[in-house]
Amino acid sequence: MTSDHTPEPWYWEAGSDHCPHGPEPDRNSTAWNTWAEHHSGSPQDVFICLDAPMGDHCPACSEESGGDPIPWSICPENPASQPA
Ligand SMILES: [Zn+2]
Ligand SMILES: [Zn+2]
Repeated sequence: MTSDHTPEPWYWEAGSDHCPHGPEPDRNSTAWNTWAEHHSGSPQDVFICLDAPMGDHCPACSEESGGDPIPWSICPENPASQPA
């Protein structure tokens, strides 16, 4: 499946250096409910931190690059990245 070249807000991975909440707690604990409010699953099958945005990214370019996050600002389909 190929994605379109469109800007998509991406977030840092939960538990990463950019996430202020720390690693995922035990899922059977009440702490997990609070933790889960700040995180969400992603198509890449990892939890992302909704409080740690990394800006708009292009999922199509990222897929073509082998999974590395490619910012929307350098996507060739982004009108703003074209020379005037
Ligand atoms: Zn977090
Ligand atoms: Zn793109």
